[in-house]
This record gives sequence, structure tokens and C-alpha cells, in this order.
Amino acid sequence: MTGGRLRAGVMGWPVGHSLSPVMMTAWLQAAGIAGSYEKLAVEPSGFEAACARLKADGFSGVNITIPHKEAALRVADTASDAARAIGAANVLRVTATGLHADNTDIAGIRAALDEAGWQGDGPVALVGAGGAARAALYVLDVLASRGIGDIRILNRTPERAQKIAQEMGVTARIFTMDDASHALEGATLLVNATSLGMAGQPALMPAISQLEGGAIVFDMVYVPLETPLLAEARKAGLKTADGLSMLIGQARPAFEAFFGAPPPVDVDVRALMEAALEPKR
Ligand code: NAP
Repeated sequence: MTGGRLRAGVMGWPVGHSLSPVMMTAWLQAAGIAGSYEKLAVEPSGFEAACARLKADGFSGVNITIPHKEAALRVADTASDAARAIGAANVLRVTATGLHADNTDIAGIRAALDEAGWQGDGPVALVGAGGAARAALYVLDVLASRGIGDIRILNRTPERAQKIAQEMGVTARIFTMDDASHALEGATLLVNATSLGMAGQPALMPAISQLEGGAIVFDMVYVPLETPLLAEARKAGLKTADGLSMLIGQARPAFEAFFGAPPPVDVDVRALMEAALEPKR
């Protein structure tokens, strides 16, 4: 705390593009909390030192973004079960005994799936094998209400998909991107946890006609907000969930961890974020 003001922020490299301050500042103002939420540009070589200074600099905690999510878990003194299982943290909270690591991306993924009406059943097809895919796998395997018997992971590098399933103790069938039509057959949920579809990247366009009627397509990418994959899914009459729902959903528990109160519900942060994204579309 600095002069009675609670201090938090987002640490990344680069971090200039982060939309988190827009949302956190709107919540702070609406809640009448004297606090700040800052962008903290920290190079990988300076990450550990920056974390070591957080308490002395008056921070109650920070969000962690690319490329520090795995390092955040390493520098933490304690960690939640979810952060340990995923192998990455997107929140570091300053406590009396040191830094506590957590992973609220899982709350973001659940929020996005809940908004789309996901029932927690399968089969599901997950595209990707990086940090975001690991968080999705945690939600699909550990948090699914009824347990999903059939998880399929597709990745450009199938060995990485095999590795995350093994490390997380999840039974999954692994597919290459070339075999996407088999992987999607009869699936009730398709999740894109790769950077495909992001502005400047090739689109992810698997054969969504293979999905079950009424399936949900969830794309974690939010620049652009409507990716080619989501546009195609909407055209096909499927339900969709976008990356902004996940971004807002992961920020809610982080706000409460940093500022000691849940974010006010009467702020339309989605509209604010969409307006902030407008120039990037
Ligand atoms: P990451 O660890 O770097 O993983 C990247 C994934 O994308 C890997 O599976 C990689 O495949 C795949 N990939 C990258 N370029 C590809 C290409 N040209 N063709 C095929 N596959 C490609 O990244 P991450 O942290 O998991 O993030 C993944 C995505 O989730 C990003 O778009 C990120 O913005 C998004 N995300 C969104 C939120 C949110 O709140 N909405 C939060 C976190 C992440 P290989 O294994 O073969 O390299």
C-alpha cells in the first residue's frame, strides 16, 4: 500500500498492449476504492528482481502475462493446487509470508464456457498445447461437472500435446492438425488455445461441420474479437464464446485478490473493452 492506496498491476514483456488496466481501473472507480493498477514492463532477465521488490514497492499483487507465467510459479513461495497442476501462474499476491501464485485463467475459461451454456460434458476437442491449453485441460478434466470421458487434443507439434496430457495426468487422444476432421467428429465443444486467428496470424479453420449440432466453439483469441473461426461457427448456427469473456472472467478473482472486494457488477466492462479494442480490429 502507498499512502493508503492499494497498488496492483500487470507484469509482462511487452505489456503495452494489455487491456487489463482499462477494466481494473473502471472497477476501482465504480467501487470507490483508492487504488491503482499499472502496466509493468519487465524483461525476462529482470523478472525475479522485480518480483522481489513488489512488497517494498507497496504492491498487493500483480497479474502476470507473457512471457513470465511459468517463471511466476518458480519465484513464488506458495502456490494454489491449480497453478501447480497447470505449471503456470497468472497472479502473484503479496502475503505476510511471501508471494502466493495462483492461476485465474481457469476462472476465465469457466466464465466463457458458462456464458455459452456449456453443460460440462463431452466429447471435447482442444487445439493447442501451450500454457492456455494447459489451463483449459485443467478445466475440462478436473472441473468438468460430470467428468469428460473423451478429450481430444490437436496441436501442430503433437509431441507437445502428448507431453501436457502426460504431465497433467489426463487421458486424451492426440491428433495432428491434418487429422482435425477426425478429432472434431461428434464433439460438443471446440476450444482454440493457439494464436491462430490472431491479427497477423493464419486462421484456424478446421472442419466444424464435423461437430455435434448445437456444439460450442470457444476461441481464446480476442484480437480480433470475431476470429474467422468464430465467424464460421456463428454462420453454421453454433454457439460461441470469445476471448474477451475469458479475459474478463480471469480478472474478477484477481481484482478481489488485489483489492479485497469483488468487482462491482454494474460496470459494463465488456463494452469498455470492446471500445478499447476498436482501433485494433
Ligand atoms: P503458447 O504457450 O505460446 O502456445 C501457443 C500455441 O499455439 C501452441 O500450441 C502452438 O503450437 C500454437 N501455434 C502457434 N503458432 C502456430 C501456427 N502458426 N500454426 C499452428 N499452431 C500454432 O501461448 P499461450 O499462452 O498458450 O496462448 C495461446 C493463445 O491463447 C494466444 O492466442 C493467447 O492470446 C490466448 N490467451 C487468451 C487469454 C484470454 O484471456 N483470452 C489468456 C491466455 C491466452 P506448437 O506447440 O506446435 O508450437
